[in-house]
Amino acid sequence: MAAATPAYGRRVSTRFVVQLHDATTLHYDLRIQAGEVLRSWAVPKGPSLDPGVRRLAVPVDDHSLEAGDFEGVHEGQRRGSGAVIIWDEGPVDVLRDEPGHLAFTAHGGKLSGGFALTRTGQRRWILVKARDEQARPGSDITTERPESVRSGRTWRELAGGQAGASS
Ligand code: MN
Repeated sequence: MAAATPAYGRRVSTRFVVQLHDATTLHYDLRIQAGEVLRSWAVPKGPSLDPGVRRLAVPVDDHSLEAGDFEGVHEGQRRGSGAVIIWDEGPVDVLRDEPGHLAFTAHGGKLSGGFALTRTGQRRWILVKARDEQARPGSDITTERPESVRSGRTWRELAGGQAGASS
């Protein structure tokens, strides 16, 4: 039977992935499995473990489960190198799933503990770390840990040799 779609008031254990993607602009794609798809948000600055930091998260189309396993270079991308790394991944417990609000506990290599995604506008959500034992005020996990959790490579290393991405 397929994994249940998260429902209000019911904890659902599923999987999340954060991919760092060098497209028109470098951004992070946060994806949380819901049944047979990955609900997705583009997070320009990436997640933070500092509960005082609010990160813009723009909802984008659901992606296939396979898309969440992709690490490599998208050929023919018009801008950016097209490089994608799996920046973080792991199990996730979705604690609340209501219209415009998602609360979850991540168990990733870099992201752990509670997070909340809250809609604040038409296509504007905010991602924020919960104030819990895994919170790290003042930290910047995206600069501390830029590498893929699967291969250990950075997106620049992955894009090395690809046009315009050797710096
Ligand atoms: Mn993307």
